[in-house]
Amino acid sequence: MKQHIFLASPHMSEEGYEQDYIREAFETNWIAPLGKNVTEFEKEIEKKLGAGKAVALSSGTAAVHMALKAVGISQGDVVFCQSLTFSATANPIVYEKAVPVFIDSEQDTWNMDPKALEQAFEKYEKIGKKPKAVIVVHLYGICAKIEEIAEICNRYRVTLIEDAAESLGTTYHGKYTGTFGDYGIISFNGNKIITSSGGGMLLVNTKDAEERAAKVLYWATQAREPARWYQHTEIGYNYRMSNVVAGIGRGQLRVLQRRIEKKRYIFDYYRRRLGDLQGIQFMPQPKEGYCNCWLSVLEMSQECPVKPIDLMKALEEDDVESRPVWKPMHLQPVFDEYDFISQIEDLHIIDQETGADHSIAGQLFEYGVCMPSDTKMTDEDLERVCSVVKMLW
Ligand SMILES: *Cc1c(COP(=O)(O)O)cnc(C)c1O
Repeated sequence: MKQHIFLASPHMSEEGYEQDYIREAFETNWIAPLGKNVTEFEKEIEKKLGAGKAVALSSGTAAVHMALKAVGISQGDVVFCQSLTFSATANPIVYEKAVPVFIDSEQDTWNMDPKALEQAFEKYEKIGKKPKAVIVVHLYGICAKIEEIAEICNRYRVTLIEDAAESLGTTYHGKYTGTFGDYGIISFNGNKIITSSGGGMLLVNTKDAEERAAKVLYWATQAREPARWYQHTEIGYNYRMSNVVAGIGRGQLRVLQRRIEKKRYIFDYYRRRLGDLQGIQFMPQPKEGYCNCWLSVLEMSQECPVKPIDLMKALEEDDVESRPVWKPMHLQPVFDEYDFISQIEDLHIIDQETGADHSIAGQLFEYGVCMPSDTKMTDEDLERVCSVVKMLW
């Protein structure tokens, strides 16, 4: 019987590092709350990435939420947010009753278009609604034009939040993603390049990082005041990472580089075997960056003889998982009421069924396919996937 091939699944270290850290937590009864694994995991991330201060949290979504709280986002504030992303990037904006304005992608990086961002700043400055923050994403591990975007934010004196949930280990000009913005967020969810079984981290890179990280820690642990009894002057959250979870994360961090190398190998394999097929292109690899290749994504042009849906169906019949590119936020019914800024003027719908439109993000959604990128895949598995694909051409 053929084995199921996953898009991306948890892959614990071959050495069993994760269990060593967990065993230590059990032996010292530091199961919860906190404990050595949590603080060490934070220190290890800070050191590895060269980040200011790291705060371990229960999820990447919680990290986005805490970043927005740290910026002081509140009701009615405008936040510019990349449209092509997972909803977790945008949801916390609405938790705080702020107003997301979605920004289109560009073809070079598939991430936030700096020109559309400029356009958004000009439009919102004119109506007196300067945003309080910009959230950029490094989708699939591809680096955004982060220096250019940081420069624009700097010029307008607006806080930059970098959603590096999918790009742990990706660099831009040799510097890790997540460390360019005032805040960076990482996710250790089950499908990410390394996983703690679920969890996230907020990176604080501001000059007053120490102070801000302490404030986040306070909110994330129920906003308890330093008193003998439970005293509260602010609304708190239960967002802290547990010591057992952090143990898994620490073990995984030790094999991050190994996982990146395998992800890159998978991407190269697909490029080698499928690169010549008519109408296929692979996700961009900007020359300024080193990509963790979290998922290998291909883009099928309008002239491609095979439709994305037929490719996905053929893979599914062979028990192989694949998925469309993220459906952009500006096309999601839940975010219907919010503005969208794009360089494309004619945003007509190109697909009634999916609702995809002519924006860059809309087209990437319509024509993009995420290929199985599980680091447990063998060469035989990769070959099996490639032959299913090649048979369609
Ligand atoms: C996974 C992901 C998140 C959220 O992380 P969780 O740990 O699952 O809450 C945020 N943004 C992006 C782009 C993601 O892919």
